[in-house]
Amino acid sequence: MKLWIAINLSLLSCSGFSQSDLTFEEYNPKSTLVVPKNPIEKAKYPFIDIHSHQFQMSSQNLTGLIEDMDDLNMGIMINLSGGSGEKLKKAIENVAEHYPNRFGIFANVSFDGVGRNGWEEAAVKQLEEDVKNGAKGLKVYKSLGLRNKDVHGKRLAIDDPRMFKIWELCGGLGIPVLIHAADPKSFWDPLDSDNERWLELKTRPGRKRSATNPAPWQQIIDEQHNLFRNHPNTIFINAHMGWYANNLTRLGELIEEFPNMYVEIAAVIAELGRQPRFAHDFFIKYQNKILFGKDSWKPEEFPTYFRVLESKDDYFPYHKKYHAFWAMYGLDLPDEVLKKVYYKNALKIVPGLDKSLFPE
Ligand SMILES: [Zn+2]
Repeated sequence: MKLWIAINLSLLSCSGFSQSDLTFEEYNPKSTLVVPKNPIEKAKYPFIDIHSHQFQMSSQNLTGLIEDMDDLNMGIMINLSGGSGEKLKKAIENVAEHYPNRFGIFANVSFDGVGRNGWEEAAVKQLEEDVKNGAKGLKVYKSLGLRNKDVHGKRLAIDDPRMFKIWELCGGLGIPVLIHAADPKSFWDPLDSDNERWLELKTRPGRKRSATNPAPWQQIIDEQHNLFRNHPNTIFINAHMGWYANNLTRLGELIEEFPNMYVEIAAVIAELGRQPRFAHDFFIKYQNKILFGKDSWKPEEFPTYFRVLESKDDYFPYHKKYHAFWAMYGLDLPDEVLKKVYYKNALKIVPGLDKSLFPE
């Protein structure tokens, strides 16, 4: 009898189910809450994903992509990774030949070496040509502010005046600039029990930064805001809600301070889904300024976005525990607001998209 108990106890501890062995990563309780469930596989209205990345668009067969988009009710995908020159031209040609009204492609500028003689003139010329070839906007990666260096090897500030003409050109040509600056502030914070991104930083240690690497978070964000301030005639789309989705009061102040700034919701739906009432009111108030975006192309993750925006469901799971160890709640947005977020605002600021794909 004693032996039997001993064997069973040892089996119990070997199988890893001993309570004291449970780590935060392993702890993943199934919710026992029984409430109405309304999962949404397809958006209520056709939508524009303003923040997508397709790196092989110059050569890829687009048919499978279109099928996935149709399943989600995605009318237009904006591919932010267009590059420039020949690569961009080929991607635009591929789209024009096969699905001319289902994609928009943004150009990119390579910022390394700013300050070199003639850098700004050459960059302006290239971007002008890219837009002539059909680019519908400019995407600025977070490398500007984090990694790009000027001709002297110094970190390039986002608001460095030596890039002035680029932003002015975009305003002049009527194309928006989608800009991702910095990363969530938690990456700059101590990796301790107070850090909400502890799991992400533990499993992806490369994302952790010291408080000043390569500059304090607030400094990089302030540089981005200076850019908006310095170029009032250029439209900027602040990616990931400018990393203020966890502080919508502050984000609202920024929207009011910068009439030329829009925001998109890529990768921050888990922030919205944990404050359904406050976020609902924020979306009502700033309904003309918010765009739908997703970032990484994983069709299976879109339904969480739809459900947070459209449903009034309580406490449903998010797909990445390292973003959110909390559950989601639906914002229950009214149709008119959904339409603006899903496509009307994007149609207003991105030139040359086919409006006939979307309801009035
Ligand atoms: Zn992105």
